[in-house]
Amino acid sequence: MTNTHTAIVTGAARGIGAGVARTLAADGFAVGVVDLDEAACKPIVEDIERAGGRALAVGVDVGDEAGVQAAVDRISETLGAPTVLVNNAGIIRDNMLFKMTTDDWDAVMNVHLRGSFLMTRAVQGFMTKAGWGRIVNLSSTSALGNRGQANYAAAKAGVQGFTKTLALELGKFGITANAIAPGFIETEMTAATAERIGMTFDDFKTAAAAQIPVARTGLPADIAHAVSFFASEGAGFVSGQVLYVAGGPHG
Ligand code: NAP
Repeated sequence: MTNTHTAIVTGAARGIGAGVARTLAADGFAVGVVDLDEAACKPIVEDIERAGGRALAVGVDVGDEAGVQAAVDRISETLGAPTVLVNNAGIIRDNMLFKMTTDDWDAVMNVHLRGSFLMTRAVQGFMTKAGWGRIVNLSSTSALGNRGQANYAAAKAGVQGFTKTLALELGKFGITANAIAPGFIETEMTAATAERIGMTFDDFKTAAAAQIPVARTGLPADIAHAVSFFASEGAGFVSGQVLYVAGGPHG
């Protein structure tokens, strides 16, 4: 497929973001591979280039206003104007409310909400100018409520409200905004949760799969496939939606 658009994927050095970056590159997008550590993005860029695609590794904290603007400008100058944005960077700082620190709360809000806001504000001008754009934000089944995740659940519910508002404001410029709410996906994030609660990752996955209607846990490719749809030309009439990709209705 030939594709002249440039995509930016945040948190793309590993996990879901790395899967999304590879898939969008295979779809023909040039991809800005953004994460905290630029060196950690390089293997993903090399994979994409080996497969014949174009990509750039960019290290930035999505919560850093000046850094975000510089990163977006660099991607635009090197790969072309970004017209697809996947706000995927994320962290967890789980704790029951009575033990949750203010830093736990602020850190999660800063990455998921401030980060998505700063990235989207920096990129939207390229999209409105092009008269075409696709924004995909990573929410979570935790948006519906999850013990030990008051901060993360609030942020991921916030992402859904943010997404719907983007859809309302930017639709007339040919821009769609949608959210994907994954259930259990096998990444370092879920591996860290297993470790925190004292289970092996295999036992944790088996226990999770037993609660999931399709009887397995998810993979980054499951989410990348949904992103690929939202970013496609043909999805231009789908906007403001939240797609639960969780192997069932509740994740
Ligand atoms: P992951 O394996 O922990 O990867 C997240 C990536 O984001 C890491 O490379 C991390 O960098 C990067 N990151 C963190 N803070 C950042 C910042 N301030 N600026 C730039 N990059 C930053 O997580 P994942 O499981 O792939 O999750 C990806 C997204 O899906 C997240 O938004 C997550 O909340 C959401 N999600 C995941 C699941 C799941 O089951 N895995 C379920 C629902 C939703 P470092 O490695 O340097 O920290």
